[in-house]
Amino acid sequence: MSSQSDVRFTDFKSDKQPTWCPGCGDFGTMNGMMKALAETGNDPDNTFVVAGIGCSGKIGTYMHSYALHGVHGRALPVATGVKMARPDIEVMAAGGDGDGYSIGAGHFVHAVRRNVDMSYVVMDNRIYGLTKGQASPTSRSDFETSTTPEGPQQPPVNPLALALASGATFIAQSFASDALRHQEIIQEAIEHDGFGFVNVFSPCVTFNDVDTYDYFRDSLVDLQEDEDHDRHDYEDAKEVILDGDKEYQGVMYQDENSVPYHEQHGVTENMSEIPDGAPEDAMDLVRE
Ligand code: SF4
Repeated sequence: MSSQSDVRFTDFKSDKQPTWCPGCGDFGTMNGMMKALAETGNDPDNTFVVAGIGCSGKIGTYMHSYALHGVHGRALPVATGVKMARPDIEVMAAGGDGDGYSIGAGHFVHAVRRNVDMSYVVMDNRIYGLTKGQASPTSRSDFETSTTPEGPQQPPVNPLALALASGATFIAQSFASDALRHQEIIQEAIEHDGFGFVNVFSPCVTFNDVDTYDYFRDSLVDLQEDEDHDRHDYEDAKEVILDGDKEYQGVMYQDENSVPYHEQHGVTENMSEIPDGAPEDAMDLVRE
C-alpha cells in the first residue's frame, strides 16, 4: 500500500473492470473522485466509500479503498455511522439521483442538517439507469419513458434547493465530462469542514437522450467565471440555485463558520483503538 506522500490516483483503482456502458458519465465522475482523493493527501488505507444502489452504486467495487455497497437509499446513514466511529478517516458517500433523492431523500435532509464531515457525490443522470430507464426524481416533467409515456407531469426535485433549505454548509454542482473542474469541485467538498454535497451531471448515454453531454456542454454556466457570485452569501446562493432559466457548475454555497457534527458533539475517540473482544468498552464510548 502506498504511503500518503507518494499516493497516486491510480492507487484508488480496484482490479475490477467496470460494467458501466461505454461512455457512461460515471467513469468521469469516479476518475474525478479518485484524483481529488489523491490530491487532498488521502490514501486507500484511510478512505471509506459508502455506495447506494443503482449503476452509480457499483462505484465502491471499482474503487480501491474500504467500501460498503449498501441498501437502496441508505448510503448516508451508514456513512454517518462510519464517520462517528472513525472521525479520523476520509468518508465519501456516493449514489445516483434515484437512490439519493427518492428513497434516500429523508436521509439526505438529515445528513445535511447534521453537517457530518464527509462528502456526498450524487451522479445525477435524471433517470433510473440500472432498471432500464424509468423517470427519476430529477427527470424533466415532459421526459418520456416506458413508464411515463407523456412524461412524469410533475416538476423535478431541485436537490440544491433541498440542501439549502435543510441547512447545508457546502453545496456544489459539477459535470463529469469537465474533468479538471469536476476534480477541483470534489476536492473542495473533501476539504470542507462538514457535509460537502456535490450534485454531478453524469449522463446516461443509454436511456437519456435529452440530458446529454452536448446539452450540458452547451448550457452549463461556470460560477467561477461569475465575479459577482459570492459563495459565502446565502442570498447569492439562493439566486443561482432557484434560477429556473440556467444551470450552473461550481460551488454555490459554503458556510465559512461550518462546524462538523463530531466536533460539535465531542466525538473524538477512534473506535478502532478499542481492544478486540472488549464490547463493554465500545458501549462505554457510545454512552459517553
Ligand atoms: Fe451508465 Fe446509463 Fe449505462 Fe447505467 S444504463 S451504466 S447510468 S449509461
